[in-house]
Amino acid sequence: MADRVSVTDPKRRKRINRLKKIILGTVAFLIITPCVISLVVTAILFREKNINKALRAENKALSEKATLFQSKLEELSLTPSTDKEFAGISGDTIDTKISESPVSYIEEPEAKHKVYLTFDDGPSIYTEEILDILDEYGVKATFFVQGKEDENSVKRLKDIAAGGHTIGMHSYSHKYSEIYSSLDDFAQDFALIRSYIYDNCGVQSVFYRFPGGSSNNVSDIDMHVFADYLAGQDVVFFDWNVSSGDAGKQKLSKDAIVRNSLLGIEDRQENVILFHDSSSKHSTVLALPEIIESIQAMDDTVILPITAATKPVQHIK
Ligand code: ZN
Repeated sequence: MADRVSVTDPKRRKRINRLKKIILGTVAFLIITPCVISLVVTAILFREKNINKALRAENKALSEKATLFQSKLEELSLTPSTDKEFAGISGDTIDTKISESPVSYIEEPEAKHKVYLTFDDGPSIYTEEILDILDEYGVKATFFVQGKEDENSVKRLKDIAAGGHTIGMHSYSHKYSEIYSSLDDFAQDFALIRSYIYDNCGVQSVFYRFPGGSSNNVSDIDMHVFADYLAGQDVVFFDWNVSSGDAGKQKLSKDAIVRNSLLGIEDRQENVILFHDSSSKHSTVLALPEIIESIQAMDDTVILPITAATKPVQHIK
């Protein structure tokens, strides 16, 4: 009886109605919100999945082009005539304008970002390990080698060439005081490294990396003198615009080398990364798989060996 009285009490009734609304509202909120959230999450996941799928397809197409490019290069290096005609990549024709050059010219595959892995100072005890990793990921690199005449080094040099990688010169002696003391000394050292490579693997190298880079502070002679000499020999010198940091006196961790090597690649078109193939640089070898995997996962990005078609990165103009 008392209950009925209280329900008919208009004030109480109003309170009960408000309470009902609040409860109903809360229940509705609790039911609808998860539904909406799960719908949104599903939509996002679906979109991401599609984007990833498209990205994977694009990367696959690009790496196939890179492989084709490499096999064309290998084909040409086996038949080192420069006026041979080959069907180019995606129908591009081979440019034979550098017909006197010992290096054949093939257009590089189109990509928004191109990455060149370059290794200085080899061959070394780690050359084979580096070559195995490059093979595993199906990429070609560039080795700027020194003149090392012992049997193991010569075998490693031959393995680099046999793997279809680009061989560049990094001076014969790598002794700053000797090679940069005069143009004559430089030219003598140049002749030695060039014939060291040619005699051991039949490659007439046309790429050079100055020990210390073209912007080194060691040479008393203006580096343009040496650069002009190289140009006179139809040799292009390459510096770098990405440094893995493995050259420093302080040994970097694998993670630091990975971080340095990937810095800014997605902002630049050409990326020449400096590494060292040296007995004191094992962290570089350990970092390599993660570096290659990360680059291969980047949008519209391809890893290529340096060839006559590569736009040089040079510190001095
Ligand atoms: Zn060096």
